Amino acid sequence: MNLSAAPEHVPDVNELSALRKYLQQFSSYDQDTGFPNCETLLAEINTETTKASPLPLGATLIEIRIRGLSRIGEAYSRKAIGSVIRQLADRLALAPLTKRTIARIDHKSFGVFLPDVADPVLALQTAKQLVALCSRPVPWGDHMLNIDAIAGVAMTTPAVQDANTLLHHAGLALRASSENGSPGYAFFDPTEARAAKRRSDLVSIVAKAVEQDQFEMVYQPFFAFDSGKLVGFEALMRLRHSEFGQISPSEFIPIAEDNGLISRLGAWCIEDVCRTAVEWPSHLIAAVNFSPAQFYSGTLLAEVNQALERTKFPAYRLDIEITEGTFMRDQELVLSQLNSLRDMGCSIALDDFGTGYSSLGYLWQFPFSKLKIDRSFIHALDTTPKAPSILKSIIDLSRNLGIEVTAEGIETTEQMRTLRNLNCDYLQGFLCGVPTAKSNLAAIILKNFSETLNQENAKLPKIRVIR
Ligand code: C2E
Ligand code: MG
Ligand code: MG
Repeated sequence: MNLSAAPEHVPDVNELSALRKYLQQFSSYDQDTGFPNCETLLAEINTETTKASPLPLGATLIEIRIRGLSRIGEAYSRKAIGSVIRQLADRLALAPLTKRTIARIDHKSFGVFLPDVADPVLALQTAKQLVALCSRPVPWGDHMLNIDAIAGVAMTTPAVQDANTLLHHAGLALRASSENGSPGYAFFDPTEARAAKRRSDLVSIVAKAVEQDQFEMVYQPFFAFDSGKLVGFEALMRLRHSEFGQISPSEFIPIAEDNGLISRLGAWCIEDVCRTAVEWPSHLIAAVNFSPAQFYSGTLLAEVNQALERTKFPAYRLDIEITEGTFMRDQELVLSQLNSLRDMGCSIALDDFGTGYSSLGYLWQFPFSKLKIDRSFIHALDTTPKAPSILKSIIDLSRNLGIEVTAEGIETTEQMRTLRNLNCDYLQGFLCGVPTAKSNLAAIILKNFSETLNQENAKLPKIRVIR
C-alpha cells in the first residue's frame, strides 16, 4: 500500500460536518430504542434546571427498572431481550405524559424526566402508571414474556438541582422500591443516601481494619441450666473506629463477606480465640461464629487446623456456630467440611434457630451437637401466648435427636424460669453475662467457681462436731 499516495476522495467541509453530526447523533442516542442515552438525559436535565431563574419550582426524574430480562435471555435469546426493550420503549413513548424526556439509562433501565412535575403526589401517581405499563407481559413470537418493573422517584429541591445527583437519588429510591412490602415504586428518602454513604465508608474502614489487625474479640458466658455452672464463652468480634464509634458485627461482617475479606478475618478470629481459650480451665468451651462465606473460601479446614496446632487448643473444646444461611449455596460442599470439622473433634452448633427458614431438614442432614434458639423466640415469650409450646416442641425434638439446646438472649428471670421448666440445657443472655473483654474473664470464672462450690456445700449433710 502506498501511504504517500493521495486518497482517492477528500471529503469536503460539508461532508465532514454531516459526518460529525451523524456521529454525534449516534453517540447521543440509544440504538435499540432511539431514545436519548444517559449522557444526553443528564445534559437535558441540567439545561432544564438551570434554564429557570430563579430556581425552578421542581422537576421529577423517574427511573424505571425492568426485572426478568436475564431470565428471558437465558430461556430464549438476546434477541428476545431486545424485542422486549423496544416494545416497552413504544409503550413509554405513547404514555399520556405532558412535557417529558424519555431516555435509556442502561441496559435494564429507562429514565423519564418530567420538568414540569413539581407535585410529589402527581410524581408518585405517574411512577405507578409507568410501573403498571412496563409490568404487562410482552409478546414474542408465540410466547408472552413475563416481566415486571419497579420505579424510583427523585425530585429537584433548592439544594439538589444537578442531574447526576438527581439520577443518583432515583437509583437509591429504586433500592427502596424493591424491598418487601413496597408497591414497586418509591420516593427517594435522604436516609437512603446517608445509608449508602455509610456503607461505602464502612467498606474502606473494614478493609483497613483487616489490613491493620484492628479487630478485637469479646466473650459472652453461657451456663448449664441444671447446675448453674459456667460452660464456656462465645467469642464475638468487635470493631471500634475513631469517628464511627463501635461498629456492630451485624454490619461489618456482611461488608467483609461482600468484599472478599471474611476469610482473612475468620482465620485471624479462630486463632485469636484459641490463643485466649487455651488459658482457661480445661473444662471450658470456646464457641466461635463462622460466616457462610468462609465455607466457600477453600481454606477453612486448613485455617482451623493451623489455629488448633499453633495454639495447642484441643478441638473437643471448640464449638463452631453456623447459621442456616450456610447451606444456601452448595450443601454438599458445606456438609463435607462440617463432617471434617467434626472428625477433627469440634462440635457444630446451629445458631439463630427460629430466624430464616428454621428448616428441620438441616437437623436431619447433619448431626449438630447443639442448637441455639434465637433471641427473637425468647422475647416472644413476653408477647405471644403460643411461644412456650413452640419452644417446648423445638426442645423436645432436639432432645430426641440427641442435640443440646441453648436459649440465646435471656434478659429476664421470667424467661429463664420458663426455659428451665422446658428442660433447656444452656442459657446465654444479658441476664447472666454480657459480652466482655478477655481481661475480665478470670473474674467471671472464679466467681462462678465459688458460687457453684457454695451450692455444692449447701447440699452436703451438716456434720455435727462433737466435743
Ligand atoms: P450471634 O452469634 O447470634 O451472637 C449473639 C448476639 O446477641 C451478640 O450480638 C450478642 O451480643 C447478642 N446478645 C447476647 N445476649 C443478648 C441479650 O440478652 N439481649 C440482646 N439484645 N442481645 C444479646 P453481636 O455481638 O452484636 O453479634 C451479632 C452477630 O454478629 C452474631 O450473632 C454473629 O452472627 C455475628 N458475629 C459476631 N461475631 C462474629 C465473628 O467473630 N464471626 C462471624 N462470622 N460472625 C460474628
Ligand atoms: Mg453465635
Ligand atoms: Mg445467635
